[in-house]
Amino acid sequence: MRDESCEVLVIGAGPAGCATALFLARQGRDVLVVDRATFPRDKICGDGLAPRTVAMLRRMGLEDRIRAAGYRPALDYRIVSSWRDAVRAGMPSFGKGASYAYVVPRRELDLLILQATRAAGARVGEGVRALHLADGPASGEAPRVVVRGSDGLTSTIRARVVVAADGSRGSFSRTVMPAKRLEPYAVAIRAYMHGVAGLDGALGFFLDRELLPGYGWVFPSGREGQPANVGLGIRVSALRRRPENLRELLDWFLGPASSAWPHLRAASFASPPATFPLQLDFPRGRRREGSTLFAGDVANLIDPLSGEGIAYALESGHAAAQAIDRGLRTGLVRDLATYDAAVWRGLSLEFLGAYLVRQLLVRPWGNGVVVRLLRRDEGLARGGMGVLSNSVPVTWLMRPVVLRRALSPHLLARVTRVARPARG
Ligand SMILES: Cc1cc2nc3c(=O)[nH]c(=O)nc-3n(C[C@H](O)[C@H](O)[C@H](O)COP(=O)(O)OP(=O)(O)OC[C@H]3O[C@@H](n4cnc5c(N)ncnc54)[C@H](O)[C@@H]3O)c2cc1C
Repeated sequence: MRDESCEVLVIGAGPAGCATALFLARQGRDVLVVDRATFPRDKICGDGLAPRTVAMLRRMGLEDRIRAAGYRPALDYRIVSSWRDAVRAGMPSFGKGASYAYVVPRRELDLLILQATRAAGARVGEGVRALHLADGPASGEAPRVVVRGSDGLTSTIRARVVVAADGSRGSFSRTVMPAKRLEPYAVAIRAYMHGVAGLDGALGFFLDRELLPGYGWVFPSGREGQPANVGLGIRVSALRRRPENLRELLDWFLGPASSAWPHLRAASFASPPATFPLQLDFPRGRRREGSTLFAGDVANLIDPLSGEGIAYALESGHAAAQAIDRGLRTGLVRDLATYDAAVWRGLSLEFLGAYLVRQLLVRPWGNGVVVRLLRRDEGLARGGMGVLSNSVPVTWLMRPVVLRRALSPHLLARVTRVARPARG
């Protein structure tokens, strides 16, 4: 590679980086996106696209392509509690967006997003690893980034703004922000599996006591003939205290003692299980350092309840693009601070609420009671699935009508009775 320049350099062509680049390119900005991988590439993920994610993909003009590629919507979520009760319900829509999810392997999804980004006018450099800022983190405006191309040669890219969207394992961001901010908070393991049965198109979440404070998932294949996505995630500190490692925990989840066993008894690996860290400690995240912005996972923008992050990667990319476009038209660095503020305003309350709900659900009695409440009341069930799928704000739980229904003595007395066999 030879030295280059652009208005905006985006590091990482995952959902966060591509959304940033796509929206900037649509504004007519000169954007260059670099990724150390060449696409299509895998990203270890549950591949679940919740309604909120679908709403953003639609805005980017991608839902039609997902459908054209043969993917069909999943209409329901299903939760099995630590008491082995099950509840199944549809998802309310996210704003004017979707009331359904998709399951699309990231190998395909990220390629579709990258193609759309290119088509919008962004330049893309695949197989290009960003190493570090040439002049250190305090370089101010017009930063230069040292990169290494697929030919092994290094060069520099000068930009007016840099967006680091290099994900939980991003190697560039680690050279810019204190390492402590990027210590993984949780870790997850995923396997693609053939022969998974009985999901009836619903995305399944399994809160077995043995997996808490994490959970397991079994997501059906989103397209005929594809394997299902099976995995589990757990807080790193909790895993360290356990005798098993993550792979052993997955083996337990795939075994006969787990509540997912009815779906998995005939299942076999389509690919070996693989692990990846999750950055879901929002307050610890960094969103800006001089004229470098951070978007997506590397800015700790993952839902603390569900562990989903694609929606927030896309949304933060969009917010970064807006702040940058405004900044380039006006006074740059001062205006970039609006990105920080937009992310904080948009997500802090929501993530705090999700964190509090998580404190309830990581307790066997907590998720046991919640699932029984949801089983008894269809309206509550849909709202609950909305909270889990990020299409209903957590503050919905605080509405008097919801509290009245959930806390009615009659309902509570029924749900706290001894465990019943699973239904739903
Ligand atoms: C096991 C697991 C299951 C999950 N399940 C779900 C789910 O079902 N639904 C959901 O919404 N979210 C899920 N998530 C979270 C989701 O995967 C992330 O939130 C999402 O990928 C974040 O997108 P991103 O663009 O920030 O980062 P990434 O998707 O990680 O993209 C970062 C990109 O940066 C590139 N890169 C890294 N370093 C450099 C460098 N130095 N130079 C150039 N390029 C670089 C990488 O190659 C990569 O392409 C899951 C996460 C895990 C770990």
